[in-house]
Amino acid sequence: MPKERIDKLLSHEGFGSRKDVKHLLRHSEVLLNGRRIFDPAVQIDADTDEISVDGEPVDIHRNLYIMMNKIQHTVSSSKDGEHQTVFDLLDEGLRTPYLQEKLHITGRLDMDTEGLLIFTTDGALTHRLISPKSHINKTYFVCLEKPVSEDEKNEIGRKFAEGITVAPDDNDPSFTCEPAEISWPETETCRSICGNSSFDAGLIKTAALLTIHEGKYHQVKRMFAAVGNRVEFLKRISIGSLRLDKTLAPGEYRMISIEELDYLLHN
Ligand code: URA
Repeated sequence: MPKERIDKLLSHEGFGSRKDVKHLLRHSEVLLNGRRIFDPAVQIDADTDEISVDGEPVDIHRNLYIMMNKIQHTVSSSKDGEHQTVFDLLDEGLRTPYLQEKLHITGRLDMDTEGLLIFTTDGALTHRLISPKSHINKTYFVCLEKPVSEDEKNEIGRKFAEGITVAPDDNDPSFTCEPAEISWPETETCRSICGNSSFDAGLIKTAALLTIHEGKYHQVKRMFAAVGNRVEFLKRISIGSLRLDKTLAPGEYRMISIEELDYLLHN
């Protein structure tokens, strides 16, 4: 990890603005590897250095992990001249200049897609989750425009399991998807998934749960277009072993617990 100035690090750890940290350094006992420091420009190696403030150790090694239930009509990027972004939904404390640089999302969702987004400062995790080589499962709840008969469901299941070829979209060329798994949830499951979403379960004609192992441009929408249907509503409900917390309303987020993180990293 590259070195960081101590005022930047302590500010990120909740010790207030850089000016507040300067004050803290003067008036509190801030120790770096056991030696008192005063200079806000001192460089810290977060991998090896130990810091304490008035005898309390500061956990500078900690990364941030957040799960959000993305709300529709938001853009999955940090800046957009026109629309609200998913970063705009975060509290001010998570939009500091330090975090603007460090906090990333591990894979985007379309503007009209809802559901699980992971934000993290952990570059290794981001790389693992977005690398095409990782083949991380992503499961989507999909509401389709046209009803689908039992025979058609079987046919779609077979085509998706074999790897369906999708048409070009915008500048993205046609490609053949990796095998994907589909199931057709009961009404109760649909109600439960839609419970905390902007889509009314009463409007569902046919719903599916689709698990893919890659994340190409508009992939889910293109897969259903390839079997003559159209996605009316799309919600990501899991990434790897991490499931979206059902109590999060669209636009809400929370920290990922140690247990969830452990599970995500090791499964
Ligand atoms: N597939 C899509 O078509 N859109 C998304 O937002 C995610 C997956």
